[in-house]
Amino acid sequence: MKDLVIFNGQINTMDTRIPYAEALAVKDGKIITVGSNEDVKKAMPFGAEVIDAKENSVFPGFFDTHVHLTFAGLNMTGVKLEKAQSKEELIDILKTAEKELSPGMWLRGTGYDETIYPGRSMLTMKELDEAFGPRPVMLERIDAHQIAVNSAAFTALGLNVGEQGVETDPLSGEPTGIVRDPANGKAHSRFSDELITDDMRRMFLRKACDQALRMGTTSISALEGGALFSDRDTDVILDIKDSLPINIKVYHQTMDVNKVISEGLDQIGGCIVLDGSLGSHTAALFYDYSDKPGCRGELYYSQKEIDDFVLEAHVKGLQVSMHCIGDRAIERLLTAYERAIAKVPRSDHRHRFEHFSVSTADQAVRARALGCCLAMQPSYIVGSDMMLSRLGEERMKRSLNMKTLMEMGLKVGGGSDAPITPIDPFHGIACAMEHYNPDERMSFWDAVRMFTSDAAYLTFEEGKRGSLSPGKFADIAISDCNINEMDLKDTKSIRNIRFTHTICDGEIRYEK
Ligand SMILES: [Zn+2]
Ligand SMILES: [Zn+2]
Repeated sequence: MKDLVIFNGQINTMDTRIPYAEALAVKDGKIITVGSNEDVKKAMPFGAEVIDAKENSVFPGFFDTHVHLTFAGLNMTGVKLEKAQSKEELIDILKTAEKELSPGMWLRGTGYDETIYPGRSMLTMKELDEAFGPRPVMLERIDAHQIAVNSAAFTALGLNVGEQGVETDPLSGEPTGIVRDPANGKAHSRFSDELITDDMRRMFLRKACDQALRMGTTSISALEGGALFSDRDTDVILDIKDSLPINIKVYHQTMDVNKVISEGLDQIGGCIVLDGSLGSHTAALFYDYSDKPGCRGELYYSQKEIDDFVLEAHVKGLQVSMHCIGDRAIERLLTAYERAIAKVPRSDHRHRFEHFSVSTADQAVRARALGCCLAMQPSYIVGSDMMLSRLGEERMKRSLNMKTLMEMGLKVGGGSDAPITPIDPFHGIACAMEHYNPDERMSFWDAVRMFTSDAAYLTFEEGKRGSLSPGKFADIAISDCNINEMDLKDTKSIRNIRFTHTICDGEIRYEK
């Protein structure tokens, strides 16, 4: 392992003891000195590689506390539908992509959002059949909780009319092609189990890691396997984890506690979906959706099922995590944590909530009292218009309230939920600063904390990573600009920050 030294940097250590420095030295993959150019020159390891940061800002390597890494890599190979503004444009984009495919190959697209199309409706099965005939077509909604399929894909994915989540036409009883959870999850796992090979999985993981490194990200909570995905994803990532270029904590999205223990993991869960998403009206809320009276979303597990799972994992010493977006789903997991901890007190469990998007003040107080932490995705804020119509003014104001939660003393780790939004910490940071509610807009530095030092807490790594402190692993992101010369309220410029070097475990893993 080569040692290295960084000089002439605007180094933001995110360590309150020495918050700023010009230079740092790395030996055997760890930071040994942080200080002025002069100090570090004296401590420079013999033969070290020298990086001139050119007065640009340097940060700890960023964390992303919520990524579906295999899925993110898979989506990098699908047709991007985010730019389509209408159903006609969707067809055009797909037709162009189809030209590259041989007959019979699946046409996969990601990121459609029918809420922005005229008429707010998605292409139907009939329309997709007319356009693409016998080729299987599977298009994924931007929130990944809904797909639109044609007849060929519907059959190949083993979907059936009458299944929960399979939408049918109220007049004809025929499937419309729209498939929501839980059938969406089943379709996904069938697709990943039967149509994806392990070689493809390895390729997806490497692709996603390379993307993370380009974005200054060196540590990821990888939420893999389980009902929405394939357990092969977990097998493969566990097998090659140490050869991947970033630091990965695997969260196996299963409720099989013994299996996870046999895999040698100290944590369990991830997006085990207690509820769905706001976009598809399936996130579980205490009160009706503002734009769908009578609808309060869906809960996919009973309180007893959650209680039993949480208690078993808790007793066996694991950190537990589950997906809950709406306050009614949060209530279930919170209740399960309260019961398990009351029965078997355990300090420092750090049980997590994934998303915690629409919580109540009371729930936040209880989560803090238990010592739970929150993996939240500020980039969901880009869907503010949709969220506002789903939730209405009052609930919207207290959604994704990372600022309040952090001020209350809860540990909040930032993440992207990639592939839902890209692995891109400065996009997440900018989003956290742009909250719909002016009172919930975070400062730049608090948002950085959420993606570095505080995030490290969620994976029990605050003693090893998350700040540029002597003794910690040298995970370093050198940016291409000096933020001291920037207006730190200008989120557009913040979003444009890129990296010249990303270093993980003391090795340069990305260089522009
Ligand atoms: Zn989730
Ligand atoms: Zn997720």
